[in-house]
Amino acid sequence: MSIEYLLEVDNITCRYGQDRAVDGLNFDVRPGSVTCLLGPSGCGKTTALRAIAGFQALAKGEIRIEGEPVSTPLQLVPPERRQLGMVFQDHALFPHLKVADNVAAGLRHQDESLRRQTVNGLLERMDLNALGDRFPHELSGGQQQRVALARALAPRPRLLLMDEPFSNLDLDLRERLGVEVHDLLKEHGITAVMVTHDQYDAFVLGDEVGIMSQGNILQWDTPYNVYHEPTSRFVADFIGNGVFIRGTRTGDRTVDTELGVIEGTLDRPALTSALVDVLIRPDDVLPDPDGAISARVSRKAFKGADILYTLTLPSGTTLLSLFPSHDNFSVGDHVRVRLNVDHLVVFPIGKTVAESMASATA
Ligand code: ATP
Repeated sequence: MSIEYLLEVDNITCRYGQDRAVDGLNFDVRPGSVTCLLGPSGCGKTTALRAIAGFQALAKGEIRIEGEPVSTPLQLVPPERRQLGMVFQDHALFPHLKVADNVAAGLRHQDESLRRQTVNGLLERMDLNALGDRFPHELSGGQQQRVALARALAPRPRLLLMDEPFSNLDLDLRERLGVEVHDLLKEHGITAVMVTHDQYDAFVLGDEVGIMSQGNILQWDTPYNVYHEPTSRFVADFIGNGVFIRGTRTGDRTVDTELGVIEGTLDRPALTSALVDVLIRPDDVLPDPDGAISARVSRKAFKGADILYTLTLPSGTTLLSLFPSHDNFSVGDHVRVRLNVDHLVVFPIGKTVAESMASATA
């Protein structure tokens, strides 16, 4: 019998004393999908993952795996009986076992040749094949993290839980391993939940992303949609770069701004206020020598293939724009750009997170 959801997190609350670290959290995970909980430090991601693993009691709500309740305020199925794979931040490798034996630890019931094949395959894919005979204390933090991943993946668990699994890796390895782990999960049909504060990890791995704040999910969506169609200012600020410019709604698909009329698919046509803030992402602002907008470069951040320029308009308004790296301007230079906004994201006027923080500290 096929089930619709492998994991159901049903309105759970977790408390430390009187503080609610997780507060009415609700989400469901389909078999074979990869879900990422993404949010700033302290928003309750690790607590939520520990609750799913069975290490954290619930004050309210219920967690079901394959339809069976595993956590309620009255009952907690112990972690070892949940048939989960786990990669937590402290790695928790067996110190007395070599790398290959750590990876083989959950495969005791397999015959020798199949076990060796599984272990060697995983060591190869995790870029660890030269390290199989080392002990954990002879590895770097990033190598230990990869061993922990390989060990959790080896028994092909029905649900894999990962807490910041790439946090100790350098950028290059992080990207490569993110893609590798994504492919492995899909090949073996492993359902996974990952928590991270790093949006790029969430984008590489996640079929769906839950943006968390203060113990709850603000938006549950695909990575594409949380970037292009954030439903709150918090999500718009937290995900990607961007600025808000003031405008007046003049129609169902148009907003009049100091940069002219911006037209696009309006994400929330029900919004009633006429005065709005329009989200402008760097990829909405295109370099164009014939562009209608002239601006001064006030800051530049080299990103390798691209340069992220902060551009200041004569009015003082700033925009961000991503130029190909060979368009190498200096601070103070004037450049021309044009807007190309597909997703028109607007909010009632208000402070950006940066403005709120500046006024709070003033
Ligand atoms: P990070 O990304 O920094 O790991 P997080 O989003 O995973 O953060 P949690 O570790 O779940 O957040 O913590 C959520 C809240 O609960 C925080 O305010 C934290 O200070 C608090 N907290 C976490 N563990 C405990 C604990 N053992 N006792 C008391 N408070 C705790």
